[in-house]
Amino acid sequence: MTTTVNRAMFDDVMVPNYNPAQVIPVKGEGSRLWDQAGKEYVDFAGGIAVNCLGHCHPAMVKALTEQGNKLWHLSNVYTNEPAIRLAKKLVDATFADRVYFANSGAEANEAALKLARRWAMEQHGEHKQQIIAFKKGFHGRTFFTVTVGGQPAYSDGFGPKPGGIEHVAYNDLSALKEMMSDKTCAVMMEPLQGEGGVISPDADFVKGVRELCDEHNALLIFDEVQTGFGRTGSLYAYEQLGVTPDILASAKSLGGGFPIGAMLTTKEIAAHLKPGTHGSTYGGNALACAVAEAVFDVVNTEEVLAGVRKREAMFKETLQKINDRYNVFGDIRGQGMLLGAELNSTYEGKARDFMMAGIEAGVMVLVAGPSVIRFTPSLVIPEADVQEGLKRFEQAVANIAG
Ligand SMILES: *Cc1c(COP(=O)(O)O)cnc(C)c1O
Repeated sequence: MTTTVNRAMFDDVMVPNYNPAQVIPVKGEGSRLWDQAGKEYVDFAGGIAVNCLGHCHPAMVKALTEQGNKLWHLSNVYTNEPAIRLAKKLVDATFADRVYFANSGAEANEAALKLARRWAMEQHGEHKQQIIAFKKGFHGRTFFTVTVGGQPAYSDGFGPKPGGIEHVAYNDLSALKEMMSDKTCAVMMEPLQGEGGVISPDADFVKGVRELCDEHNALLIFDEVQTGFGRTGSLYAYEQLGVTPDILASAKSLGGGFPIGAMLTTKEIAAHLKPGTHGSTYGGNALACAVAEAVFDVVNTEEVLAGVRKREAMFKETLQKINDRYNVFGDIRGQGMLLGAELNSTYEGKARDFMMAGIEAGVMVLVAGPSVIRFTPSLVIPEADVQEGLKRFEQAVANIAG
């Protein structure tokens, strides 16, 4: 017997930590979605920067069904072929020599932070514990990662927080310099802040952070959970910044919609996570790794990465035209398929209203904080869908500001 479900039931059976939209999507294909009533939407949200190849991409469906008929899970008592193949591809394509698999962005960051502490403890001693991160940064919701994240509202109210964590303003190199010492174990940052409002780093800032880390023997951890896997137009954002981190966390687009996270690092640093020091039952799951390998093969091509940069230009140009007509944005920014339109003072705090008006008009967008509308569509969204989605978005803007 199947039960028909609706949005009202959500409130009866779910923990109330989310407040999802009234519509329930039931089917997706490429960058289009359909809800229970059959209404169709253009998807500019992409499952929050996750569905990098859209919905049900044939290469992913093939990998999932093939692996699904072969082998799902073994645990870490055994390794599996897809995990080794994916790790090899990640190592060959990046600065890293070693990979640890997890199931989410928070878990990849948690592993990065624990590794940094181990490294510092064993390499330099107990005094080297300080983790510095940035205000408005977001690193996940485990208690360690959410405390490292730069929004205290997310970590308050759960009792004693993990210690040794400090925050300074993003793009404020002198504040960081002031804070750093030989007690600094690691600096963790997003190479472009996503959840915090789609905020790009100044070019000199990132280079300066790297230099300060070198000066104080501290590790530089890049949280590329949102920026990684083609999102900004290169496989990882660090490639375009001319700065190489010591540890990198990847998730979201990595699985294209299948839960997986990865922490990448060098051979020397990795050596500090010896057998028994850290782990995960599902990490390196064969199904997840098979899907991520298929995503990698599509994303890590010049065709797709160049396509991301082309779509960025299309979005920015059209959003500018919408703004010329309705005067709603104070800034249009971001990189690749991680874009933000900040509302001007007239519409401050109203980003959620635009998101809801978008749903009415048949286009799904996101917010990044109260005043920024965020766009994180598929990296391969057809140009016709970009145009149709932006037409619908303009309708949503007109409904609020027209
Ligand atoms: C989404 C996100 C995370 C958390 O990832 P989860 O898979 O939700 O745990 C961490 N860091 C950044 C930069 C993110 O955007």
